[in-house]
Amino acid sequence: MIQANERRIGLMGGTFNPIHLGHLIIAEFARHRFGLEKVIFIPAKEPPHKEHEKLLQAEHRCEMVRLAVESNPYFEVSREELDRQGLSYSVDTVKKFYELFGRATQLYFILGADAMLEITTWKNVDKVMKLCYFAAATRPGYTLAEMRRQIEGLPPSFQGRIFTFEIPRIDISSTDIRHYIKNGEPIKYLVPECVEKYIERHKLYR
Ligand code: ATP
Ligand code: MG
Repeated sequence: MIQANERRIGLMGGTFNPIHLGHLIIAEFARHRFGLEKVIFIPAKEPPHKEHEKLLQAEHRCEMVRLAVESNPYFEVSREELDRQGLSYSVDTVKKFYELFGRATQLYFILGADAMLEITTWKNVDKVMKLCYFAAATRPGYTLAEMRRQIEGLPPSFQGRIFTFEIPRIDISSTDIRHYIKNGEPIKYLVPECVEKYIERHKLYR
């Protein structure tokens, strides 16, 4: 199945609203665990309603991702979903990277346990399954055993395509961070300092 000499690249999708240490930890552990040459962070576009306001927000989210990954030579940011017209589906994104890197490269779509439980609802998930593997990390509230049980219950096309891995449990979510900011509570040590400064400077999430 997976050969040691194959090129492997990680795809880290998310809304990153904003990016936090949980995202960076999951990406770094995936890189190490699966021997990934690099991890490409792919900020998602907002749903198309309330366009103007949301578009600005997308640029802020992307810029924060760029700042957050800058110091890691194995991390990159892609504007693939932001620059694509219309709704963006993961199947189109994965297909794009599959075509870019070629069949000899193994793509690993990195996600947390909560996101893993939702992949069956993705558009054309069977197609996605053929183009990439999934690397699903533990997240507070989900055990590795539960995740494996869930995977066993999925249709045959999913079997052998989803790998689970442990990361240090870090109970941070972007939702919590947005709440902390609204409530005037600190976000220091939950997001990289450059992201904290960016949020302050642009008065985001107040
Ligand atoms: P929100 O609260 O807005 O949903 P989030 O913190 O879940 O934000 P997302 O951008 O939705 O962040 O997540 C992107 C990916 O990162 C998802 O696959 C998610 O499961 C994973 N992820 C986010 N935070 C963690 C964490 N603390 N531990 C493990 N995985 C995480
Ligand atoms: Mg989420």
